Amino acid sequence: MNDALLEALRQQAAGGGGLEGALAGMAGDDPALGLLSQMLAQREQTLTQDLETQQREEERLAALARAGEEARQLDELRQLEEERRQTQRRVRLERLRLRLEELEDELAGCHALLDGLALALGACPSCWGEDPGCRLCRGRGQPGFVRPEAAAFRRLVAPALEAASFPIDHRPFAGCETPELERRPL
Ligand SMILES: [Zn+2]
Repeated sequence: MNDALLEALRQQAAGGGGLEGALAGMAGDDPALGLLSQMLAQREQTLTQDLETQQREEERLAALARAGEEARQLDELRQLEEERRQTQRRVRLERLRLRLEELEDELAGCHALLDGLALALGACPSCWGEDPGCRLCRGRGQPGFVRPEAAAFRRLVAPALEAASFPIDHRPFAGCETPELERRPL
């Protein structure tokens, strides 16, 4: 083996390359060295192509991984947003439920007060005489429709009459503290 070939092999073994060029330079008329040079060139081309293919595949896999991670993060954000909306919806519903309970209590209080006033004024507690289709009074249940209930009258009406300096005659209620409703014939 000549010195040039030996030096080229040393450089190749050390990772420096150059064997193919050295062989091509020495090939001259030696068909064996020429063939070896061609084989080395083809081998290097194949390795280069394999390396490029591997790099492309690694880049493709890395891009896929990035896309997967972005999709996962996007999905997490969507879930967080949905949870936030559901929490807000629950809070709003709870507020509405509490407000509804308050309104129901207020309405029940208003109905109780109106029922007491209807008793005190002898009015129809259902329509106060404003509904011709009322099953209780057929629209004639305005105040005075029946005898006012004594206790309710004294509690709700008498103080107002006294404040207005109207004379109050308690005789109609004598002996009738809890009178039955006296409905006029319908
Ligand atoms: Zn009525």
